Amino acid sequence: MCTADPGIGPDVFDMGSNRRLSYDLIAAESRRIDCEQVWPIMRTVLIVEDEPAMLRGLEDNFKAKGYYVLTAMDGRHGLETALKERPDLILLDIMLPEINGYEVCSHVREKGLEMPIIMLTAKDQESDIVLGLNLGADDYVTKPFSIKELMARAEAFLRRRKDVEPAVYEFADCRLDIAARMLSRGGHEVALTPGEFKMLHLFLRKAGCPLTQDEIRTIVFGYSRFITVRDIDKAVESLRNKVEPDPAKPQYIQVIPNIGYRFQV
Ligand code: CA
Repeated sequence: MCTADPGIGPDVFDMGSNRRLSYDLIAAESRRIDCEQVWPIMRTVLIVEDEPAMLRGLEDNFKAKGYYVLTAMDGRHGLETALKERPDLILLDIMLPEINGYEVCSHVREKGLEMPIIMLTAKDQESDIVLGLNLGADDYVTKPFSIKELMARAEAFLRRRKDVEPAVYEFADCRLDIAARMLSRGGHEVALTPGEFKMLHLFLRKAGCPLTQDEIRTIVFGYSRFITVRDIDKAVESLRNKVEPDPAKPQYIQVIPNIGYRFQV
């Protein structure tokens, strides 16, 4: 997992313009994106990159635009994270320690995962692009690249992906209508707080996947909110009372000790 690079300082490095951007600028841009944000919950981006400065720059930029960011600095960890967390998008470097980006891409597709993969390639690897695309990558950018261009491509993939996501999720006698932001149970509307709606949407989108406390907190409540583990537990308890046949013996929202929760299908 990526750790903070002390050399980067408090600003964000834009690889495209080769300059540092102040957090004020990033925050202003992020607020603009938030206003345009129509998805109820954050999208998850996995960045697999072994160059610390590049990884940190990408991580900062994607976080500033409202994504939940997972990172890995070698291919093995990247593959494990992709299979376990099922992110909405993967940015994948090709030359990586342990196993390379081609192998990661190939294994991800073999497992039937269809999230968009954008490969990050060095200039002299351009001739190998075709291999990446044949193995299931959707697109590539050549280093050094413009962060704005990469963001635009990533957002285009995520918009398309959103179009194929279910508009309604159903389980037991519950029905969650995403566009209407409405839960009904046995045909009757059940009132949800915005946090409960986002949490249930997250659980259903990632059904079967373990979700860490940090992931739930950030995706549901955002990076800036101070939410404790206890707050998450209380929100889950409240949600269980609204969706579980027997909240005392949860059938759907299950605890994974020392990790978080999983929606069991
Ligand atoms: Ca590399």
